[in-house]
Amino acid sequence: MTATFMHLTDSHLELRARAQEFLSDHWSTVEQRAGSTETFRRTAIDAGLLYRWVPKAYGGAEMDSDVISEAIIDAEFRAVQAPGELDSIGARMVVPTLLEHANPALCKAFAGPTIVGQIRWCQGYSEPGVGSDLASVTTRATATDDRYWRIDGRKIWTSYAADADYVFVLARTDAADRGHDGLSYILVPMDQPGVRVEPIRQITGAATFNEVIFDDARTPLDHVVGEPGNGWTVATTTLRHERTMISGAGRLGTLFRALLRAYAARGAPHDPALAQRLMELRELVEVKRFATIEQAFGTAQDLTVLRLTDKLFQSAFQEKVAALAMDLLPSVAADLPRTEVVEARWVTQILGSLGLTIAGGTSNIQRDILARRGLGMPEQRRADQ
Ligand SMILES: Cc1cc2nc3c(=O)[nH]c(=O)nc-3n(C[C@H](O)[C@H](O)[C@H](O)COP(=O)(O)OP(=O)(O)OC[C@H]3O[C@@H](n4cnc5c(N)ncnc54)[C@H](O)[C@@H]3O)c2cc1C
Repeated sequence: MTATFMHLTDSHLELRARAQEFLSDHWSTVEQRAGSTETFRRTAIDAGLLYRWVPKAYGGAEMDSDVISEAIIDAEFRAVQAPGELDSIGARMVVPTLLEHANPALCKAFAGPTIVGQIRWCQGYSEPGVGSDLASVTTRATATDDRYWRIDGRKIWTSYAADADYVFVLARTDAADRGHDGLSYILVPMDQPGVRVEPIRQITGAATFNEVIFDDARTPLDHVVGEPGNGWTVATTTLRHERTMISGAGRLGTLFRALLRAYAARGAPHDPALAQRLMELRELVEVKRFATIEQAFGTAQDLTVLRLTDKLFQSAFQEKVAALAMDLLPSVAADLPRTEVVEARWVTQILGSLGLTIAGGTSNIQRDILARRGLGMPEQRRADQ
């Protein structure tokens, strides 16, 4: 018998048919598409099509699943632009962290509302003077009595803080400890007098970044994820999920298709040099697609190392896309003035592309970890050590 690389089983084909039927029942009319996305997602969860990895007790569909099934559902939802699983800090970073480290009460309180977009989150890690060296955070959380933590300190580069309902804060709870010890991972409501958000305008013109000032902010004592003092382990779990979110194959494909549209929309004759560069990017999309399958089947030796290379791959890809878009833009501007909105999006993409080499851990740091974990090289010492 000839071995095939991959084929869909009967149950996969049946799942695809079920997803198509669900979408035709719930996402085909104008009224349905104009309805509440939260309600739609809840219906899709009840139908066993979204958040199959989240237990029922915490608002998910709780189904036996595999990566092919998830990819099938995702493809069907994307094909008709139906709201799928949220690509957000809450759904992709907080909820998996809670499932791994939090007690059932916290999972119950936060997971369900987060996966349908009812609770929005931001990440309180970086501080003025603390970035790559995350274990040096100085924000303090002190147990005031038997009910509350009191939080004091400043966080910076906090994406989406102005819209967030909650922030997960990495704070020092034990003043005697230094470095990785004595840190805790605490969930803090944003809407309170002790939390102030100051937007920071970026080069793109947007202000998704913020400085967040905690001055006698309060949160219940039981809002700590994992054990108090063990926040480093929890924080690195979230970072792992952040890298996976940033480097998803779906994002690469979406960006590539947008670039193809920009090429077609520029209204100029076929340009073999630009087409050549487009095809190089297409190759990278395919490489990533197969790498994702390889990882999903668990044949990869060291998933931690692969996830780090994933993020490096993604940021390099995004920089190449930005460089090509920059060469396409002048003709878009000259030939199609009505495409202002498209252009504005590309300008944001170009200006923002460098950000990915910094967010969630800089490329230098990723390479350093890769050298140690992947190649067994000795730890780098900084010049000031
Ligand atoms: C788009 C974007 C979104 C972000 N969102 C958030 C957010 O929501 N929440 C949050 O908390 N933070 C956020 N950040 C901040 C981000 O986590 C930090 O910028 C990042 O960790 C780097 O820290 P830093 O800026 O202080 O740079 P530094 O740590 O000061 O690094 C400066 C330079 O020195 C290099 N360097 C530092 N130490 C070493 C070393 N040991 N070995 C080799 N090179 C080294 C770095 O690679 C970098 O090139 C975001 C950043 C970006 C760009």
